[in-house]
Amino acid sequence: MGTDNHVVCGHFLTASLSQSQVDFPGDPYSVSVLKVGYCLPQTDGTFTADGTITLITGPRTVLVDTGGPWDRDFLLMALKQRGLDPGDINVVVGTHGHSDHIGNLSLFPTAVIIVGYDISEGDTYRPNKLAEGHAYPIDEYVSVVPSPGHTGQDVSVQVKGTSAGTVLVAGDLFECCSDEDSWRDLSMNTAVQEANRQKALSTADVIIPGHGLPFRVLRS
Ligand SMILES: [Zn+2]
Ligand SMILES: [Zn+2]
Repeated sequence: MGTDNHVVCGHFLTASLSQSQVDFPGDPYSVSVLKVGYCLPQTDGTFTADGTITLITGPRTVLVDTGGPWDRDFLLMALKQRGLDPGDINVVVGTHGHSDHIGNLSLFPTAVIIVGYDISEGDTYRPNKLAEGHAYPIDEYVSVVPSPGHTGQDVSVQVKGTSAGTVLVAGDLFECCSDEDSWRDLSMNTAVQEANRQKALSTADVIIPGHGLPFRVLRS
């Protein structure tokens, strides 16, 4: 089941889930990873990377990160397999502005678009308090929470009440389950990011990272 892979993350023990454990059903909200992100160094000094794409379904339909522009056809197909057209997505959240996370925003012109701390509907931008550290609730179960550090304006999406407990779709707050040797190199502010990582670990039961498989936070 993959849960024998325990990793100490700060004060917390985490366990990576397997490729078959990417769906977290719940009532009223379910969370499904449509594509597991990756980041792979190549021998020529480049690296290949794509951001995790996650779908939250329930009273509202929320897509968290869209992958890169090359994911366009994959994303349309993955939604179609679930009986969804792009117009059915109510809210699209880009956890931050990197190209492998927000490459397909243009598929969703009618959705509420949240990228970092910007919240817009069409060309209308809504004032909000994400920059001041306040969550932006979508409803009583789903909220967008500020989680900067990787960039200056990262957000995560918290979903309460799934069968796995509270799920946090974290973007690049976490690269993957065992990222202790890599996340700082990609961080704009390691102190801020470390504080937000610890906050995430203390509140979430499952974390969906930006470039790896979901992992469980183990508590005794
Ligand atoms: Zn990323
Ligand atoms: Zn990033």
